[in-house]
Amino acid sequence: MKFGGTSLANAERINRSARIVQRFSPSNKIAVVVSAMDDVTDQLAEIGRLAQKGEARKTKQLLAKLQNLHLNTARSVGDRGSRRELLDKISQLNTELERTVDGIGHLRELTPRSKDYLLPFGERLSTHIFTAALQAIRLKSRSLTGAEAGITTDDNFGEARPLAEVSYHQIRQRLDPILARREIPVVAGFMAATVDGSITTLGRGGSDYTASLLGAAIGAEEIWIWTDVDGLMTADPRIVEDAAVLPNVSFWEALELSYFGAKMMHPRALQPAAQKKIPVRIRNSFRPARLGTLISEKETTGAGRVVKAVSMIRGVGIVTVSGTGMMGAPGVAAKVFQTLGSNGINVTMISQGSSEAAISCVVAKKEVERAVRGLQLALLGQGYVEKIGKEQDACIIAVVGSGMRGTPGVAARVFSAIAKKKVNVRMVAQGSSEYNISFIVSEKDGPEAVRGIHEEFQLGTLTSKKIVLC
Ligand code: ASP
Ligand code: MG
Repeated sequence: MKFGGTSLANAERINRSARIVQRFSPSNKIAVVVSAMDDVTDQLAEIGRLAQKGEARKTKQLLAKLQNLHLNTARSVGDRGSRRELLDKISQLNTELERTVDGIGHLRELTPRSKDYLLPFGERLSTHIFTAALQAIRLKSRSLTGAEAGITTDDNFGEARPLAEVSYHQIRQRLDPILARREIPVVAGFMAATVDGSITTLGRGGSDYTASLLGAAIGAEEIWIWTDVDGLMTADPRIVEDAAVLPNVSFWEALELSYFGAKMMHPRALQPAAQKKIPVRIRNSFRPARLGTLISEKETTGAGRVVKAVSMIRGVGIVTVSGTGMMGAPGVAAKVFQTLGSNGINVTMISQGSSEAAISCVVAKKEVERAVRGLQLALLGQGYVEKIGKEQDACIIAVVGSGMRGTPGVAARVFSAIAKKKVNVRMVAQGSSEYNISFIVSEKDGPEAVRGIHEEFQLGTLTSKKIVLC
């Protein structure tokens, strides 16, 4: 079971999450993964930035706020017996955090490596608090850092990759004996370490990934992600009023959706679970009676429905490389992607018409300028590319469902629904998996496009609102 930041936002919520574990623990062996308390990771990042800039006063202020948050929370969880030990532990970590921040402030330097040391303090603190909360309700448990749980990564700080085989082996070695004693390991999500022991992080939102890794390693029956929404939804409920929870989706569909209700999920989180075919359940810790969404191998088309969900990704732009000289010229696409890649710019969507006179790439809005400059330097004046254009206010609409595969007419329905809303489509791509049709509209048209598709495919009636666990 993994608990996200909102499920740990204060003592009351932590206690509630602990009771969820209690409720399922008599009949199951449970390993717990926690992320940092709500917003703590962002605040740590801010503290790092302030310290680096030499803003000593502001740094101190924010740091004190964070230290007090954890101390005060610790004071209201646990019982008398465990509280002393917990408060000692929190103070110790608070001191270590302070030293780290001082170090950054002195050097005025925040490297990817020191940032990876700084950010997981949130998880390191919350594991101890959660462990105490479990102990207070008579559940034997102990906290572990990512490294202590056996997760070893490469040294790509900020976005480190787990070394799967080594990690799996170590995780089993560390967790199996704890679970066999019927103790509950509480593991700090998001963090790991290199072979030589430097702390790394798995990328923002990485505690989902931790849960998936641990589940895969120990051969869990299911991986449960406790969050603050009822599960994966047919659309963002802030955009579509009758958005409904999806009871079942396949790993592929979940990957394509990459959105939890309104929230983004770690892009690689599902990979370990999918590889070992371990079902992942997304559940709401605020409404634990609901079953949530089950992500599994099974492809259910849900009463013949071809489209299951529609999501929207804001904050992107389009960069278009064009020129009649590109027609039939081999290697242009390679050059485009190589240029973007070597500038560290991630491409989300690609399209090229069969005339070959233009290639369009979707990149993050904040990267558009850099992409254009990089491409100008690399491509202009060589005879084939004439123009490099950009559009900055765009959003991606992704229509997802495994039933779309091989079903004729889906694209027609998608685009006529958009036309009905008088929304202009700027770019289209469909992966050959046919699980997903993605297109670009202007940012302001995005919500209307989502609503149009939701209506056309009547996604709101695909509801699981009545499914509850007794
Ligand atoms: N606390 C980390 C973050 O906010 C990891 C996580 O929440 O999954 O990115
Ligand atoms: Mg989080």
